[in-house]
Amino acid sequence: MESTLLVNEDAEISNGNKLDKTFKRLKAIEDISYTCSTLFTSDVALASYKVLKPFCELSGADYGLVFLLKNPTKQLFVEATYGLPEEYKEIRNKEKILTLDSEDVDDNWPSIRAILKKQIVVVKDLDQTSMGFSKLFRDTVKPHKIRSVAAVPIVINDKAVGVITKYFVKPHVLDEEELSFMKTTANIITSTIERNHLLETAKKSERELAQANEILKQVNQELDSFVYIASHDLREPLRTIESFTDIIGHKLQDRLASEENDYLERIIKATQRMRKLIEDLTHLSRASRDVKENELVNLNTLLTEVQFELTAFIQKKDAQIIVLDRLPNVIGSKGKISSIFKNLILNGIKFNRSLKPQIKISLAEDINFDPDKVCICIEDNGIGIEEEYHNKIFGLFQRLHTNEDFEGTGAGLAIVKKILEKYYCDIWLNSVPGKGSKFFFTLNRVNWVKAKSKR
Ligand code: ADP
Repeated sequence: MESTLLVNEDAEISNGNKLDKTFKRLKAIEDISYTCSTLFTSDVALASYKVLKPFCELSGADYGLVFLLKNPTKQLFVEATYGLPEEYKEIRNKEKILTLDSEDVDDNWPSIRAILKKQIVVVKDLDQTSMGFSKLFRDTVKPHKIRSVAAVPIVINDKAVGVITKYFVKPHVLDEEELSFMKTTANIITSTIERNHLLETAKKSERELAQANEILKQVNQELDSFVYIASHDLREPLRTIESFTDIIGHKLQDRLASEENDYLERIIKATQRMRKLIEDLTHLSRASRDVKENELVNLNTLLTEVQFELTAFIQKKDAQIIVLDRLPNVIGSKGKISSIFKNLILNGIKFNRSLKPQIKISLAEDINFDPDKVCICIEDNGIGIEEEYHNKIFGLFQRLHTNEDFEGTGAGLAIVKKILEKYYCDIWLNSVPGKGSKFFFTLNRVNWVKAKSKR
């Protein structure tokens, strides 16, 4: 709002009880500010309705109206009224009062002028003004014997969206203080609406996010149940195929031609692969179940046990496991943490063409790490992974090699990630093709459970 348009420019400042008036005005502004601060809506109508009464009462106005523009139709509606006789009370929001672009409406109507010019418009005395007002306006106000009008536009984001207008039956002298009071009122409405609009947008996004999360949770649960049921249901027919191939193999052992033997071999290999896939699917579905087990896990003891279990594979590959640091105790499921170590160590040895595959296990320290977490690094001297696949490999059945090159199902890292996610832990890697990989993952320190229960 740049300036004020005073139609009777000889406005005088009343010398009456000025201090008392000022005090009342300040009190009214305080009331309006308070009302607006407790108003959690971006609804212009409600905001303006709430301020209309103090706005009119303060200057002794007889009537007050809030007109709002319904864009894009440019129609003006009455949204709130003050002091109107009974028969007019019903006009609120019932019918459009005016259409801004129509012929009988020009800016010779104080409220419309306030909207079009985005200025406060004040008419001290309608009878004495040289300014021509539209016939429609004069006909409208005549029965109410209106002599003075003051209209304050409501401007939001530089667009006038409505106007608050007060009417006086006696000529009203408007002083500078009242003018500034009117401007302040309009500013309070504007900032209330803008603030609440922002708040509502933020709340909406928050609500949408919560809903999306809920749906995602349900879908994940359904998927888990599906995987669980499918992996169980698939076992039975697979067992039947395995038994019958076994019987056929034994019965026809010496009678099969080499080609037929080859077919039988292929069936056996395919069923073995199928069994491994089903096992992995079962592990995957279990990864998100039974996560309530929270036991104290001594990682040093656990690593000794893991190495023992992998002895055959380690010896076959002539691999070496070096634990560089003493590891702290963590909280979680011993079985699940053990499967994380097994998967990562086996991968480090498997995806490795060195004559002597080497796996180094150490504690990773970084001041940026969450103090409730322990970060562990498993480093290998294997084939390494191109950076563009660093995320992809954690997806289910995502493999970068054929089964002929390196055997596997592509479920290992997906299982590891899922277990860690359930414990609010993370996994990531650094790797350079040909130079080996470093997998980092976090686990929960002993004090994590206490910290979590405080959250
Ligand atoms: P799998 O071992 O059954 O193939 P994973 O989910 O454990 O499945 O691994 C997914 C893919 O990530 C592997 O097929 C491999 O291409 C790549 N990968 C995993 N670990 C390593 C590693 N230490 N070095 C190189 N590549 C790896």
